[in-house]
Amino acid sequence: MAGIARLPESVANKISAGEVVQRPVSVVKELLENAIDAGADRISVIISDAGKELVRIVDNGSGMERDDALLSVERFATSKIRGVEDLEDLSSLGFRGEALASISSVSHFELRTAVEGSSLALSFRYEGGVLVEEAQVQGERGTSISVRNLFYNVPARRKFLKSNATEYGHIYELVRSFVLACPEISWQMVNDGEELFNFRTPDLNERLDFFYGSGFAESLVPVTEENDYISIRGFIGRPALQKRRRLDQYFFINRRLVQNRMLSQALQQAYGELLVERQAPFALLFFEMDPSRIDVNVHPAKLEVRFEDERSVRNMFYPVIKRAVRSYDFSPDLASGE
Ligand code: ADP
Ligand code: MG
Repeated sequence: MAGIARLPESVANKISAGEVVQRPVSVVKELLENAIDAGADRISVIISDAGKELVRIVDNGSGMERDDALLSVERFATSKIRGVEDLEDLSSLGFRGEALASISSVSHFELRTAVEGSSLALSFRYEGGVLVEEAQVQGERGTSISVRNLFYNVPARRKFLKSNATEYGHIYELVRSFVLACPEISWQMVNDGEELFNFRTPDLNERLDFFYGSGFAESLVPVTEENDYISIRGFIGRPALQKRRRLDQYFFINRRLVQNRMLSQALQQAYGELLVERQAPFALLFFEMDPSRIDVNVHPAKLEVRFEDERSVRNMFYPVIKRAVRSYDFSPDLASGE
């Protein structure tokens, strides 16, 4: 092959989709972040065939006008930042303007959206990133995005999807983390036509008990601490009740679910010998800090953040957890009930 040629946008989108969208759960994550960024307080997650056949997210957020709706599916089109300097002070979950372009290029994609006061919604259908139909449909304020037949045009990717049980498991765990992170949002989830939950009140305990068994919320140890630099609040599991996998550790930094090795290790160390081999404590912890003190732009799926000053965070976090762990009577006889 000779010479350099610029790839057409449709090809570039398909290639970069590989970074943003690895599997159905990536679609769910991007669409949920968008729904939250749009200010929704009611979100439905509808899944068929572990997301391989359908992922549909319906929100009652701001909706989009026609021009914005068309732009939203283009690459690097975002309403959330205007320049790199805005990354310093990011309050939204999204910022790259890539998700809808990527997802629509590797699926059969439908965007329905209506803004406040419009009597009809607009519907746009895309196949492989190409607009194939525009229509007016019934619809209230908000946005509904349906992603069908993910990777239908990328057989290599489709082939690498895992079993339905595995792919669905990832989706369920992700949705659960959003449901716990955003109690003020009403969440509904429907899988293969069956409604799994429909939380209409902002009662976090109800949600915890639903996911982890009744009485679970009550068994947790609350954590709250605040200084000029960071605030930490949430819950950790009682040491004597630990039997959980690392998956049940949620760290949200400014509302963003993240993985962070320092936080997991500090948590584990704070429990110290109270954990039997290979146990991992349950944690649901919300960190709030000045967005300029973290970098969220370090991971393609935005799953990691980098702290400007990791040591300060650890120096606050570790003793807080240590104290919370100690403050409880965790003698197995009293607390375990097992
Ligand atoms: P990003 O979230 O990084 O901006 P996306 O490709 O995910 O990029 O979305 C592009 C734009 O489309 C967003 O900036 C937003 O303005 C708009 N958008 C996407 N989803 C929704 C939604 N559910 N409701 C309202 N606007 C949306
Ligand atoms: Mg987004």
